[in-house]
Amino acid sequence: MAESFDIIIIGSGPGGYVAAIRAAQLGFSTAIVERAYLGGVCLNWGCIPTKALLRSAEIFHTMQHAKDYGLAAENVAYDAGAVVKRSRAVSKRLNDGVAFLMKKNKISVIWGEAVIEAPGKVTVKPATAEAPKGVLGPGAYAAKHIIVATGARPRVLPGLEPDRKLVWTYFEAMVPERMPKSLLVIGSGAIGIEFASFYRTLGSEVTVVEVLPQILPVEDAEIAGLARKAFEKQGMKILTGATVTKLDRKADGVTATIDDGKGGTRSLAVERVISAVGVTGNIENLGLDKLGVKTDRGTIAIDGLCRTSVPGIYAIGDVAGPPMLAHKAEHEGVVCVEAIKGLNPHPMDKLKIPGCTYCAPQIASVGLTEAAAKENKRDIRVGRFPFVGNGKAIALGEDQGLVKVIFDRASGQLIGAHMIGAEVTELIQGYVVAMNLETTEEELMHTIFPHPTLSEMMKEAVLDAYGRVLNM
Ligand SMILES: Cc1cc2nc3c(=O)[nH]c(=O)nc-3n(C[C@H](O)[C@H](O)[C@H](O)COP(=O)(O)OP(=O)(O)OC[C@H]3O[C@@H](n4cnc5c(N)ncnc54)[C@H](O)[C@@H]3O)c2cc1C
Repeated sequence: MAESFDIIIIGSGPGGYVAAIRAAQLGFSTAIVERAYLGGVCLNWGCIPTKALLRSAEIFHTMQHAKDYGLAAENVAYDAGAVVKRSRAVSKRLNDGVAFLMKKNKISVIWGEAVIEAPGKVTVKPATAEAPKGVLGPGAYAAKHIIVATGARPRVLPGLEPDRKLVWTYFEAMVPERMPKSLLVIGSGAIGIEFASFYRTLGSEVTVVEVLPQILPVEDAEIAGLARKAFEKQGMKILTGATVTKLDRKADGVTATIDDGKGGTRSLAVERVISAVGVTGNIENLGLDKLGVKTDRGTIAIDGLCRTSVPGIYAIGDVAGPPMLAHKAEHEGVVCVEAIKGLNPHPMDKLKIPGCTYCAPQIASVGLTEAAAKENKRDIRVGRFPFVGNGKAIALGEDQGLVKVIFDRASGQLIGAHMIGAEVTELIQGYVVAMNLETTEEELMHTIFPHPTLSEMMKEAVLDAYGRVLNM
């Protein structure tokens, strides 16, 4: 007879493994199926290893500017192999951490490729990746509830197909053997821009091509405009409203044909290309069609409690649609399991999911952009505070950036916050908490922020929205 669990989760990324831990905490017998790497894309090929690479780039940049701080650093250089090795070691440490957490919470790990045969029935086939120690093997398994957390993979556009050598996806871009002298990045979402920033900081000639009119298309236009200026000042070339139509692959380089969107074309010769044109959900080969699970543009359709169209089958994380972010996946995992337990969790509110891009300068946001607020016919007040007015920013040598807040005029409710500059990915959470508590301008103005900190700009931006800015 098939081994049976209360919950089987397919995929051990931040959605799956967090759902498994919460399920175990709530007393469910839980198993997680994984075919490739514990921790999913996030820990192995996404969030974490990119941040390790970007940290090396940041320190390299700071060392090059040692003189600005009264310090001396001669012959500043990097070893690409060592930079990548450190990033892989960081990933490995966290990947081991997931194995530890599964063991600690008595969650069974089943190694292999899962297919849902019917509600309640999962078959696990052998996987090509080597199994870690102490896991269960392929076979038939049963569970009252099945959570699909299979994540996503790079989207492929016709003619721009990655080939692992010349045209990279994030997998190859994460482990370069050497720094390419020149690089074309197709797509300027968070993934494309983080790689563009990393390679540019380490000296590659980087061109970014974006089909939409602005880079970082989901961000507030004002912030994206400031980001563009900052990147161009660093020497990055950026083409917006432009499309890469063709890639001619040579022995050790690529010639790209670019439609500039104004009736002209140009060609660009580069050593390597990164295709960062988005990701698409891993919905195939899971048996979803046969079961009648509804999908929507490459992802599984779910309600606010992560239920699919078939009772007993749930979906969370990237495979359940945008925004495709690790913290969204984690939160859905918790909501999903708590709903199964009957704890009545709040359904996911997508407007309160922060988004961060860890390029230099960093970008962070939550809630409505100014344009979206206007499109929604909201009567708004907007406040801004520049980094140049903040003592800590100047002391850090980081005086470029902006904090921008958007309030609903009638209620005083904070409905959006957008930032660019040093450490804003750490600051944004203050506004996320404020939004979650439905905080008004009055409460934010009564909050005391420590001095000197970058966070003081968050209060000043609020004051600015109400004509009371102090340090500007
Ligand atoms: C380069 C890059 C940088 C990123 N940076 C950030 C960031 O800074 N912040 C952020 O929030 N997000 C970031 N992301 C996005 C983030 O990685 C994803 O949103 C997150 O990993 C989604 O988690 P998940 O649990 O849904 O799926 P995944 O992490 O993709 O995990 C899914 C798992 O399911 C397994 N699987 C799939 N099918 C099966 C099957 N049939 N049987 C068994 N196992 C299966 C896969 O092997 C995988 O391990 C980044 C992504 C990339 C690519």
